[in-house]
Amino acid sequence: MPKYVYDFTEGNKDLKDLLGGKGANLAEMTNLGLPVPPGFTITTDACRSYLADGGFPEGLAEEVDTHLAALEKGMGKRLGDIDDPLLVSVRSGAKFSMPGMMETVLNIGLNDESVVGLAKQSGNERFAWDSYRRLIQMFGKTVLGIDGELFEDAIDEAKRHKGVTNDLDLDASDFRHLVEVYKGIVREHTGGDFPDDPREQMLLAVRAVFDSWNAPRAIVYRRQERIPADLGTAVNIVAMVFGNLGMDSGTGVAFTRDPGSGQQGVYGDYLQNAQGEDVVAGIRNTVPLQELEKIDAASYRQLLDIMKTLEDHYRDLCDIEFTIERGKLWMLQTRVGKRTAAAAFCIATQLVDQGMIDLDEAVTRVTGDQLAQLMFPRFDTGADRRLVAKGMNASPGAAVGKAVFSSERAKEMADAGEDVILVRRETNPDDLVGMIAARGVLTSRGGKTSHAAVVARGMGKTCVCGAEELQVDPQARRFTAPGGVTVEEGDVISIDGSTGEVFLGEVPVVASPVVEYFEGTGGHDDDLVKAVHRIMSHADERRRLAVRANADTPEDAARARRFGAQGIGLCRTEHMFLGDRRQLVEDLILSESDRERDAALDALEPLQKADFTGILEAMDGLPVTIRLIDPPLHEFLPDLTALSVRVALAGDDAGERDRRLLAAVKRLHEQNPMLGLRGVRLGLVIPGLFEMQVRAIAQAAAERRAAGGDPRAEIMIPLVAAVQELEGVREEAERILDEAGVEALIGTMIEVPRAALTAGQIAEAAQFFSFGTNDLTQLTWGFSRDDVEAAFFSRYLDLGIFGVSPFETLDQTGVGRLMKIAVEEGRATRPDIKLGICGEHGGDPESVHFCHDIGLDYVSCSPFRVPVARLEAGRAALTGTGSDSR
Ligand code: PEP
Ligand code: MG
Repeated sequence: MPKYVYDFTEGNKDLKDLLGGKGANLAEMTNLGLPVPPGFTITTDACRSYLADGGFPEGLAEEVDTHLAALEKGMGKRLGDIDDPLLVSVRSGAKFSMPGMMETVLNIGLNDESVVGLAKQSGNERFAWDSYRRLIQMFGKTVLGIDGELFEDAIDEAKRHKGVTNDLDLDASDFRHLVEVYKGIVREHTGGDFPDDPREQMLLAVRAVFDSWNAPRAIVYRRQERIPADLGTAVNIVAMVFGNLGMDSGTGVAFTRDPGSGQQGVYGDYLQNAQGEDVVAGIRNTVPLQELEKIDAASYRQLLDIMKTLEDHYRDLCDIEFTIERGKLWMLQTRVGKRTAAAAFCIATQLVDQGMIDLDEAVTRVTGDQLAQLMFPRFDTGADRRLVAKGMNASPGAAVGKAVFSSERAKEMADAGEDVILVRRETNPDDLVGMIAARGVLTSRGGKTSHAAVVARGMGKTCVCGAEELQVDPQARRFTAPGGVTVEEGDVISIDGSTGEVFLGEVPVVASPVVEYFEGTGGHDDDLVKAVHRIMSHADERRRLAVRANADTPEDAARARRFGAQGIGLCRTEHMFLGDRRQLVEDLILSESDRERDAALDALEPLQKADFTGILEAMDGLPVTIRLIDPPLHEFLPDLTALSVRVALAGDDAGERDRRLLAAVKRLHEQNPMLGLRGVRLGLVIPGLFEMQVRAIAQAAAERRAAGGDPRAEIMIPLVAAVQELEGVREEAERILDEAGVEALIGTMIEVPRAALTAGQIAEAAQFFSFGTNDLTQLTWGFSRDDVEAAFFSRYLDLGIFGVSPFETLDQTGVGRLMKIAVEEGRATRPDIKLGICGEHGGDPESVHFCHDIGLDYVSCSPFRVPVARLEAGRAALTGTGSDSR
């Protein structure tokens, strides 16, 4: 029989798959001898089995009983005992942290009898009844599915009745009364009584935690964070310790370093006389952790010692949740903490300097996504700005948008294409949809560890929290700032997540220092830039994959080169036929004789040559893969409907050219142009077109060489499906190159499944392959790349057919399989064949790892993604096959 339950003494931090992050780390802390309340973890295996079958797996309930008995023995108390009850919490904890997304129930074990025992044992009647009403409230909402507002309303009513505003002003008899009211709510909404059997409470809570894996907000969060839907959650059952036993008790969170900047120090929040989630929920305002020194010096010192122990042990920033029960410190959670992108880079290099990790490990501690975040623009401090408030700098970035005051509005307006800033007093897990939709989040309450801050940081979304000067009125959809400034829904504001500033109107942005560093225009003296420089240099040293850029202009090529590109992997030539030159393409299409056609091509050739000369110059000494024209020709002609209307309206006065154009547009019209006359097919049916392009390349190269340059053009043929297609084009190209006395590699894209499947043959005629994974994905799945994302991808994501669009991250199982076949068979025919990728996936972190794993020589991506690809290529080399690039 499988083992479903592990005592904290049995686990360790490496068992996250099985015990979830919380359970694994509680076990680790237990084994380090830290003060963790005793408990045990029900595995994710049990959850997966439950979710599949709808019931507990065989033996689970008995195993839980055995562990509970051991816990009771260790604590010298029995769950729900009348005289001295043991109480437990039932806490969710998946492999990846999902803050606030799943359920937790505290104070399990209380009923009408044990509450009396708890009051007696604690000597605090108020505390006992408060704990009991909290249990019914949490249990009612989480396990029994009752609307939480009903309980909130009842407590508000109790306060109103008493004429007080703070929960702390309610006494034991108020809570005793609330318990009765709460039980009435349960009865009314479930038709049954609140279960008073402690064991039943516990098992129902376990079930509710399992079920919460599939709560809508958890599903949304997983999709956003790309967490697989089939992991399931573990459940931790932990002996309760109480932070709400009086002013000598409390609860808090701490970080071993600043998760915003990476600086070492004491960071966190503390709340006296509070329980459980009060701190993270941001409901009451906390005090900075340093103040704990004045409140309880002994616990404070012990906490700092533990923080040091944890940092040394995990060799990384840790975040911690703790509770102090009457002067005794308890650790409730730790994990390697989430941090901002800037902090990730700074911390990684600090740890190197402190001798905790080496540079190889530092490279694996940051991600391409984090680097991409650092490349976003920032607000221009020199601009005219109207500061209206200042809150905490919870998650960096510069966000501008229209203020909205509910998640629904945020989503609606974002769906309509507006940039919005979600403004709330505080957020809760139900705000997730709005947070995802918004450019940034602004709250008036809660600290750096409030829900808004934690979730925004996790998403890399700009957030200013705890801007207490703001009066936020969600009903009236407005906030008021000091001095009477009022911002209504739809008014534009700008929030700076790095400084906590809130500005009225749109503040202009400037390039980030990291981009300036890549551009070579900024200094190296900023700590962040120094850290980025060290890590990037080391990633470059370690990576095996070369990184090239997709660029079609000399300017883009030059920028890509400054960003570290080692050549161009895809120069699309079709963009060179637009604008003024469209006329010449029309001439080509309309030509009715060889003479007319040659004249049109002759007019285009010098223009193309000049394009190529500029690009070869910008990439002098590095390979430049120029792809011959690819899209269907109708893309260069006027729209059929517009042209038909023009000709019809003109009647007999319609010009000859328009008539011919209309005839051509009709002739070239295709039902499925992406599957029609494009790519190599154009070269084979339109005489002279590819030849003109190859001549332009050859002449540009010759001219560059004559000027003392080192041009390294490569000619790439698109959309080849059969070696015969390539052979014809290649022979002609070689002849032209020979005539010009120029050498250039000739290769093809692999973007049609047949090309991948016959790569062994195609390699006979190709000196290189470049995987065009945009088309290869389109053609492998049969998905029109221009239509499907809007049409039905969100449904596919809901159904879990894939976790992320295959146009964003390579579908390794399907498209990747074709790539592997092509790599193997291409190399078998031509061992020195050069292999790269130039589809959008070339700049996607996970796909870069895949390209490393299957042995490509380079990836090519847009210039701005080049640093991301360099970093991920370094990480791929350091972490080896099958790594998790998250
Ligand atoms: C591709 O198909 O992956 C590719 C790079 O070509 P394009 O996107 O221009 O079709
Ligand atoms: Mg393509």
